[in-house]
Amino acid sequence: MTKVYNFCAGPAMIPTEVMEKAQQEFINWNNMGCSVMEISHRSEPFMKVAAEAEQDLRDLLHVPDNYKVLFMHGGGRGQFSAVPLNLLGDKKVASYCDSGIWSAQAVREGEKYCEVDIVAKHGPVEGLETVSPYDHWEVHPDAAYVHYCPNETVDGVEIYDIPEVGDVPLVADMSSNFLSKPIDVSKFGVIYAGAQKNVGPSGLCIVIIREDLLGKARADTPVVLDYSLAASHDSMYNTPPTYAWYLAGLVFKWLKSKGGVEGIAVQNDLKAKSLYDYIDNSPFYSNSVAVANRSVMNVTFKLTDESLNKQFVAQSEEHGLLALEGHRAVGGMRASIYNAMPIEGVNALIAFMKKFEQQNG
Ligand SMILES: *Cc1c(COP(=O)(O)O)cnc(C)c1O
Repeated sequence: MTKVYNFCAGPAMIPTEVMEKAQQEFINWNNMGCSVMEISHRSEPFMKVAAEAEQDLRDLLHVPDNYKVLFMHGGGRGQFSAVPLNLLGDKKVASYCDSGIWSAQAVREGEKYCEVDIVAKHGPVEGLETVSPYDHWEVHPDAAYVHYCPNETVDGVEIYDIPEVGDVPLVADMSSNFLSKPIDVSKFGVIYAGAQKNVGPSGLCIVIIREDLLGKARADTPVVLDYSLAASHDSMYNTPPTYAWYLAGLVFKWLKSKGGVEGIAVQNDLKAKSLYDYIDNSPFYSNSVAVANRSVMNVTFKLTDESLNKQFVAQSEEHGLLALEGHRAVGGMRASIYNAMPIEGVNALIAFMKKFEQQNG
């Protein structure tokens, strides 16, 4: 079989070492003669898995003691509802930055619960997709929180700096760039990330929340979305997605072995730079995002001659390069190069792109 590199945006590839370890202990975990997914979430061995995963995540991101780490259900979209339900309190307004397709979805859901004030938009500036820098954001004086998405998975747009929003809690949908680089957790009220991009399989969502924001959920908040309940029950108010939690724990250990987020960030920057450099220097391909907003995780690009799109996708698959077709909403191509994608995968993609250009340019 040709060596396969999977560029899927999500669910995305998981490190091979992690998959091999999971395979090895699939039906006989911890010498118990059964799988980790077949034991009670309240049993001592699973509680140990859960606690270790949390501690490893805390170590990786240097999560301060006054933050809770929650392992919740419902993916990223579950949080689009959980955030307003838990954080509005008696306020009626929340500010949102609209930087692309995912933040627009968060806005749509937020509008069910409050007045949404848009603090920033994205759009072309001199032909390049740009998000207005945060020193131009005007946060509503009565906003309960400011929500933004630092990495727009579909658009390939990233906001590198953490916005300064004063005392208003900052909420970040980090689904697609969580653990891709070091971050200062203390700058955030809530960070959440659906697992299937950079953490593990789908079915799990990580939430990191500053403790003083707990206890404000609306009375009609569904129990599975209630941060305080999750926090007071160690994320086991109902049965958590135990297998996803276990796999996330393996990914955290793998990441530690790679030098943590500090180490992986160097690799991630190198991967993205190689790909963008190649695209910028080729008349055959182009990227339409401003350099200040280019995503390190999701590299979008177009073929100058879009009639070759189908051929490009078909031939890339023959070369073992999977899932390069862009999201249906934006078209073109997209290479998602999360933590698990080795530099060899990016090099293989560039080699294929060159060959395709030579044959069709
Ligand atoms: C994938 C993604 C989501 C949605 O996640 P689900 O788990 O499908 O709900 C939300 N936000 C961002 C930035 C994403 O990349």
